Amino acid sequence: MGILAGRRESSDAPLPDGASVGVIGAGPAGSFFALHLLSLLREAGRTARITLIDRKTFSHSGPSGCNMCAGAIGQGMVGKIAGLSLPFDRGVISRIADGYEIHGRDVSVTIRHPEKGDIYTVFRGGGPVRSPTGVKSFDQFLLDAAIEKGAEFLHTRVESVEKTAAGYRLSFPDGLKRDFDFLVGAFGVNTSLSRKLPFAYRPPRTWHTVQAEIPAGNEFIEQRLRNRIHIIPATGAAIRFLAITPKNDFLTLTGVGEHVKIADLGAERARNRALAPLLPPGAEVLCHCHPQVPIGIAIRPYADRMAIIGDAFISRHLKNGIESSHDTAGVLASAITTKGISETVLRDHFYRPCVRLFRYDNVWGRVLFGIYESVLRKGRLSDAYLRSVKRELAEGETAQERILWAVFAGDSPYREIAREAFDLRLLWKMAQNLLGG
Ligand SMILES: Cc1cc2nc3c(=O)[nH]c(=O)nc-3n(C[C@H](O)[C@H](O)[C@H](O)COP(=O)(O)OP(=O)(O)OC[C@H]3O[C@@H](n4cnc5c(N)ncnc54)[C@H](O)[C@@H]3O)c2cc1C
Repeated sequence: MGILAGRRESSDAPLPDGASVGVIGAGPAGSFFALHLLSLLREAGRTARITLIDRKTFSHSGPSGCNMCAGAIGQGMVGKIAGLSLPFDRGVISRIADGYEIHGRDVSVTIRHPEKGDIYTVFRGGGPVRSPTGVKSFDQFLLDAAIEKGAEFLHTRVESVEKTAAGYRLSFPDGLKRDFDFLVGAFGVNTSLSRKLPFAYRPPRTWHTVQAEIPAGNEFIEQRLRNRIHIIPATGAAIRFLAITPKNDFLTLTGVGEHVKIADLGAERARNRALAPLLPPGAEVLCHCHPQVPIGIAIRPYADRMAIIGDAFISRHLKNGIESSHDTAGVLASAITTKGISETVLRDHFYRPCVRLFRYDNVWGRVLFGIYESVLRKGRLSDAYLRSVKRELAEGETAQERILWAVFAGDSPYREIAREAFDLRLLWKMAQNLLGG
């Protein structure tokens, strides 16, 4: 029984010393939450029993170990990990890219961000099916760190959640049940559990993406792809854009759109003339998946003694989800350590601050993404635009480079670039460049 049993009024106070906290999901949101909470409690001279629960084994290759993602991590995220007193395990880094290449039909441009630095690529599990052993996954690195700092790990699937007088009861497939004083949902958007919860929570709207893992030699990755992440406009209607992320001796080919099937990716490989040269000729797909990506915000991701973080709540529009999960985890850990665990307190000190972080930024994200995506999809216009970006870069002008970085690639908030993107002088100059070819 939890220590809050029979003390319903205490949920207006911060998490009491010695409370039990159950976290469903030990992906980035769950592990970051445990790390944040353990650090804040230690500073306050308090403790909690934190149990991370996950059905996956992040050291396994293939679907049983993988949290299905392109695995690009910017230096902002690396800095936030250091802020948790966690040295980044360099064994987790598959490749280090110095930037992105954005493709039109026949023209491409390299974009870098001197202040943001290199991008690390990581596996979220033990690598694709049939990959060599020894891949250390990013999710395992975070989970190991949380365990080392004092969290407990339960390797099982949560089948159901029940409300009790003073918290929540979780049930597992072996018939076991566990009670917690406070419950955290860090279960992402690729689970059916979100539809079986005993509160008013509704998950965010999602798109169904596709990812394929393709083997590629080091020479191809270094010489043809220059070890960078490539963004390619799609030719068909199903896919909004394609990305190639190199990792060790693999390429992760991602297709993002509302309902993308592996066949859509096959069709792009056959007819997209910008894509074909970026993949080794005749390369087979080792494994593929159809992960969902949130494109909206959850309804009621909080209730008395319960809150939902990470993808299952809110994240930056179509990029940088790992860092977003770090951020919502941090806001929640701070709210329950210093403010309280009641529904009202969680609304004011967890839900609203997170919405302020992302919702309005995501409005800019959608607008900017829509504009730049539609330019890049239009063969001749995309080439004219990218030529004008190249010309600007040669003249030492970096405005368009920063905008492209913010829209497709890096870890900048969209709002940082929105004012610049809609600057009339810049738009006029761009129009002149486009008309000039
Ligand atoms: C195609 C694609 C590409 C992406 N590329 C990037 C990228 O390059 N960089 C980036 O920063 N972000 C990227 N993202 C986003 C990123 O994957 C997510 O934002 C991030 O994984 C969210 O973390 P999370 O912990 O909230 O959820 P998840 O990573 O989904 O973790 C949820 C965890 O909960 C567990 N779980 C669920 N239900 C249960 C249950 N019933 N019982 C026990 N355990 C359960 C799961 O096993 C899982 O481990 C990408 C997403 C997609 C779809």
